[in-house]
Amino acid sequence: MAVSECPECTCHIPIPPDASAGDFLECPDCGASLRIKSVFPPIFEKVSGD
Ligand SMILES: [Zn+2]
Repeated sequence: MAVSECPECTCHIPIPPDASAGDFLECPDCGASLRIKSVFPPIFEKVSGD
């Protein structure tokens, strides 16, 4: 399974196999809201609270 770093806390988060770019998930470690910017290579970006 692909894994990428949380941009907030740098913990490693697995990307679900059915995930696609633009999907949202939450960091299990720091709780940051993240968007999948790219699945391959796996890149997360933080979603601002705005
Ligand atoms: Zn995090």
